[in-house]
Amino acid sequence: MQEQQKIQMVDLHGQYMRIKAEIDAAIAEVIDSSAFINGPAVGRFALALAQYTGVRHVIPCGNGTDALQIALMALGLKPGDEVIVPAFTYVASAEVIALLGLRPVMVDVDRDTFNTDIRFIEEAITPRTRAIIPVHLFGQSCDMAPILDFAAAHGLYVVEDNAQSLGAVYTYPDGRSRHTGTLGHIGCTSFFPSKNLGCYGDGGALFTDDDALAERIRMTANHGQRVKYHHDVIGCNSRLDTLQAAVLEVKLRHLDEYSRARRTAAHRYNALLRGVDGIELPVEASYTTHVYHQYTVKVKDGRRDALKEYLASNGIPSMIYYPLPLHRQKAYACDGTGLKIAESLADSVLSLPMHTELTVEVQERIAEAVAGFFKR
Ligand SMILES: *Cc1c(COP(=O)(O)O)cnc(C)c1O
Repeated sequence: MQEQQKIQMVDLHGQYMRIKAEIDAAIAEVIDSSAFINGPAVGRFALALAQYTGVRHVIPCGNGTDALQIALMALGLKPGDEVIVPAFTYVASAEVIALLGLRPVMVDVDRDTFNTDIRFIEEAITPRTRAIIPVHLFGQSCDMAPILDFAAAHGLYVVEDNAQSLGAVYTYPDGRSRHTGTLGHIGCTSFFPSKNLGCYGDGGALFTDDDALAERIRMTANHGQRVKYHHDVIGCNSRLDTLQAAVLEVKLRHLDEYSRARRTAAHRYNALLRGVDGIELPVEASYTTHVYHQYTVKVKDGRRDALKEYLASNGIPSMIYYPLPLHRQKAYACDGTGLKIAESLADSVLSLPMHTELTVEVQERIAEAVAGFFKR
């Protein structure tokens, strides 16, 4: 029998092997210089990422969750202030809101795109609302123009959680385009290894066009100090390692190529799975490019868990992002009335393997197994 390639959700090693020489040289240079904290690669990478996304300031930090926390601290939100977050997302945004003594107010999401939707934000606003955290989930932008207009009309801050969609571009109704993460007052991202721009450990960054906010963000991430040992505000300690910055500097040069590889893989899945009755394929919204952090299908008729098990028994991994909406999590439990879409998505979504190294053969095996399940 022919040895079959083991299928993985994400192939970080395969991706490394293609750029090994560049990465190894960049890492060796950092170790050689021994400038491990705030070495030159950190500033160089921040500048390169600012140029890539077209934003004035990129402030690196320790991880994506820190980025969200630093954003809310820099905006000077006060305990009891309400922050609107989608109920169907990763926990980080709700977590930092709660940690700072703010109140997360959960809203439902759009069924097609899984994204934060103005329709539900409008219903959630109260006199205590101070900020909205739209999450650009799975690789495409939320429809930001209505959210930004609404926020401006009500004096609310917009902090984008762009951990999953770095590289995506949003087009406003007037035809102007901008990168996700540069649309609100502050954008936050993560360089967790499996993210679209991932490093080899933890990393994150904040984006802003506002000079004064950039200064507050820098201070907040650096113990609240502008001048060493002079602490003007309560801050935290959150830095991007020089080694990680060196890795990211190399990988940023490949980001567009990575996004293309993900899009190609997604469209190939679409072609292979189009005829399968039991699932709904991902929807690309007209106002955004899609960089496919995840390729997520909706499984009909309550058969999601059975499909996942069947795939696993055929050597095919899949993941449920996310099995519980935030309001069903013990730590964040609250009234879920009106969060019906988040609930039904949590019960029906399934993410198939998605990464930059997927081959036609592997995708065909995956698609055959998915189709096979529904033919039984
Ligand atoms: C990964 C992720 C984060 C957190 O990033 P870390 O670097 O793991 O802290 C936040 N929000 C979303 C939507 C994410 O996917």
